[in-house]
Amino acid sequence: MNEFVETVVIGAGPIGIETAIEFQHRGIETRVFDAGPVGHTISWWAPQTRWFSSNDRIAIAGVPLHTIDQAKASREEYLNYLRTVVDQFQVPISTFHRVVSITPIESNQNGHAAASESLRRWRLGFSRSRGQNAAKQTPDYFLDANAVVLAIGGTDFPNRLGVPGEDLPHVDGYLREVHRYHGRRVLIIGGRNSAVEAAIRLHRGGAKVSLCYHREQLPEDGIKYWLRPEIEGLIRSGSVQSFFQSRVTEITEQTVTLETGGPDQKPQTHSLPFDDVLALIGYQQDSSLFRQLEIVSELPSGAPLYDPETMQTPREGIYVAGTAVGGTQSSKYQIFLENCHDHPAKIADHLCGERSSPADSKGATHQSHGNPERGNSARGDQGLRQRIELQPES
Ligand SMILES: Cc1cc2nc3c(=O)[nH]c(=O)nc-3n(C[C@H](O)[C@H](O)[C@H](O)COP(=O)(O)OP(=O)(O)OC[C@H]3O[C@@H](n4cnc5c(N)ncnc54)[C@H](O)[C@@H]3O)c2cc1C
Repeated sequence: MNEFVETVVIGAGPIGIETAIEFQHRGIETRVFDAGPVGHTISWWAPQTRWFSSNDRIAIAGVPLHTIDQAKASREEYLNYLRTVVDQFQVPISTFHRVVSITPIESNQNGHAAASESLRRWRLGFSRSRGQNAAKQTPDYFLDANAVVLAIGGTDFPNRLGVPGEDLPHVDGYLREVHRYHGRRVLIIGGRNSAVEAAIRLHRGGAKVSLCYHREQLPEDGIKYWLRPEIEGLIRSGSVQSFFQSRVTEITEQTVTLETGGPDQKPQTHSLPFDDVLALIGYQQDSSLFRQLEIVSELPSGAPLYDPETMQTPREGIYVAGTAVGGTQSSKYQIFLENCHDHPAKIADHLCGERSSPADSKGATHQSHGNPERGNSARGDQGLRQRIELQPES
């Protein structure tokens, strides 16, 4: 018999942690598992990257987030904050446990689940190896649960260029510590926040930076307001070399081939020498669990199907929370941490409704607000919501 826990939260990002704390306040037994460390997604941002959301909006579970200079939190400050919140609420998290399979218990037992096991709806298979792709891993540990919350985020893999040479060791989908690029010729591919921020930081850090973007100019919207004037100035002065209307067609150990030219122009090919290539062209969700559960919508983002009132997917007892609901958000992000803070309470409301009245809960209209049973965390959420409404600037 496998170990049993009432609910499992997959993902120890901010929303997974916030969900577990909400469950604790409601007396719902839970455990959290993450494929990496606490706040894994934020942990791979380049050192000292800052959130663009203000601190009120990324604070979780009603715990204020203060920074030493009142500025928006950096990666380091936020990871520190997450660890503090986890310790404060003693959130039970197992790190470096990737969930690689979720199967209905009935199908494992040929439809003959014993009455004593009726709470065991789902069997989760975990891999404790450090590999990336869930689809390619086999489970080495199992756990049964009644309900599962997929708070798995949406940025598991960097997007690929689809050109020869992109797997060479000097080609990367992540900006690393700025120090390592000092004195090097770096080509940055992309024209949105990650690419623009990397171009500025690497230039200031002593790299010789070129920026390659497929459009005629940087996008009008979607770039942090404090980055745009700086990158435009650097491009104008020639401090950052720019290749607009350009695409990379091949990368070798020494050179990158660029094809330049608009739709009505004859394309020109340049072969240029670079030491490092950063392809900062967005990230993709690992949707393998959604596919296993057959809850993928037909939207281009591959977002999961779910009821926005309860966050439950078409699979009973399987919920989604956080930015995972947006699937792969390509260029225009609409789901951010700041607009997901109501997910934990919705799920807890639905689970509590199910526990008190299982028969009524199926397809029932649920109420996520004004529930008198809600504890401190819910009051914290309300406070947070109010503060969000009062600060429409970010
Ligand atoms: C440079 C940068 C700056 C950003 N700035 C902002 C910002 O200012 N404001 C904002 O709102 N957003 C910002 N984002 C997006 C931000 O990362 C998300 O909003 C935030 O992390 C979402 O939290 P989450 O809990 O929904 O998901 P995540 O933080 O992505 O957490 C998901 C977790 O699930 C885990 N996981 C995934 N699959 C599995 C599995 N199979 N088994 C176990 N664990 C699994 C992952 O390891 C991860 O820890 C930024 C992103 C980047 C890259």
